[in-house]
Amino acid sequence: MPKPLLCVTVTAATTAELCQKRDAVPVADLIELRLDSVSDPNAAGALAGRRRPVIVTCRPTWEGGTFAGSEEERRRILADALSLGAEYVDIEWRANFDDLIAQVGGRRIVLSSHDYQGVPGDLEGRARAMRSTGAEVIKIAATMTCLSDCIPLLELGAQNGHGGLVLLGMGDYGWATRVLAGRFGSAWTYAGSLREIGQLTAQSLLEDFHFRSLTDSTAVYGVTGGSVSHSVSPPMHNAAFRAAGIDAVYLPLPATSAADFHTFGRAIGISGASVTIPLKVWLSDHVDDVSAVARRIGAINTIRVVEGRWIGGNTDARGFLEPLQERVSLAGVRASVLGAGGAARAVIVALASSGCEARLHARKREQAEAIAALTPVKIGPWPPEPGSWDLLINCTPIGMYPRVDETPIAADALTGLHVYDLVYNPSTTRLLRDAAAMGCQTIGGLEMLVAQAREQFQWWTGSTPQTDVMRNAALERLAEFARNENYLV
Ligand code: NAP
Repeated sequence: MPKPLLCVTVTAATTAELCQKRDAVPVADLIELRLDSVSDPNAAGALAGRRRPVIVTCRPTWEGGTFAGSEEERRRILADALSLGAEYVDIEWRANFDDLIAQVGGRRIVLSSHDYQGVPGDLEGRARAMRSTGAEVIKIAATMTCLSDCIPLLELGAQNGHGGLVLLGMGDYGWATRVLAGRFGSAWTYAGSLREIGQLTAQSLLEDFHFRSLTDSTAVYGVTGGSVSHSVSPPMHNAAFRAAGIDAVYLPLPATSAADFHTFGRAIGISGASVTIPLKVWLSDHVDDVSAVARRIGAINTIRVVEGRWIGGNTDARGFLEPLQERVSLAGVRASVLGAGGAARAVIVALASSGCEARLHARKREQAEAIAALTPVKIGPWPPEPGSWDLLINCTPIGMYPRVDETPIAADALTGLHVYDLVYNPSTTRLLRDAAAMGCQTIGGLEMLVAQAREQFQWWTGSTPQTDVMRNAALERLAEFARNENYLV
């Protein structure tokens, strides 16, 4: 099957603006002109002077578009587009414009169906019925209500031997269908700014995910968890894969449950994954083996697939320790760990053999006791008393975006020597700023993030990634996020 094309969707307020935006698209094989978005839709105006092949679409409100005029009017616009030689015209399967399709013998027709509630029950039957119209391309788009909803599309794509198919999973759970369009048997993928249906921008597809170089043999990795849409792991790992010349791609793969991710991962043949909240504990039950350190921490943050076997590991402990040991000799140091969640547990396991005297401080004492029952550690008061620590480690989310003005410890109580904040968004938290002003040596969470990602990369590929490549990619993504959300990193 040929490589999938990149189709960029363009919307605008008027036809004139649509043409301007059409011509300003920097890279695309096809441009989808959404005539339903403009106030003065007309095919001639939209097609005039085009420099690239287009798909003319005029989606009615009853199929999720914004064209509110009559069906006669819409039919006329689409008929005009066909007679004026548009490379493709998108006609909704449910519109029953069979005469339009017959007029051109199905050539240049993209027959589309959109399901916003989920995957239609009889997907194969749907595809057969649509194909029986003779349309050159059939497009089936469905909202993914979970990650494994992608699988029926994957299976349909695999059965399709004759091309002329576009299968799209709408929503964030459907990102894999957009990036791995070739694997889903799609003739093209759509890119653009329709974020509400899960579109990725062309820039993101090309630069973050190297869309042009993906093939059926590209190894697939990803980050899974509840909310991974703003994760900095995809830019870090994709940049590292590219710098190392490794044929692999790393995707955000949000999942509703451990079983959801497991089912999808098996179907797509995933090579490995990073795991984040809330799947760090739940996924432990879905792997074939768990590393000793992951067992001690009680959570996995990495999966590596070896000959079909899923192995769970945890790189948080080493990722935490590495930047710390580069700066501080831990023997005899009094370390106070704030918080008693997943990260604190990895930190306590990491510190256990470091020679420091660790104490755990949590606002809910029972949480601290639960950790101490698994890895012996002293429990201190919340908050720790000034003068009682040399090294303070923040393992709570206090200070994390969006509550960037908060800090777990008041500035005048920062009496120790070193402050390590695991929060990495923003990369310089209020705690770190206060600590530096009080003369403490500081370490930001980005250091740990990069170090644990480097461990993952090494475990998956056997090669050492370039730390700077990973760090710069993470910083760039955090800066972009901060610009969009209007705060300082
Ligand atoms: P978690 O499992 O949800 O645990 C958070 C802990 O912080 C809980 O004990 C929670 O206690 C406590 N906490 C939350 N808000 C608090 C507040 N206002 N006052 C006192 N305690 C509070 O989260 P996690 O996975 O451990 O992650 C914690 C932070 O570390 C996050 O910001 C995460 O992004 C960061 N992290 C960074 C890295 C890295 O590589 N840099 C790796 C892992 C985690 P309650 O139950 O009382 O709320």
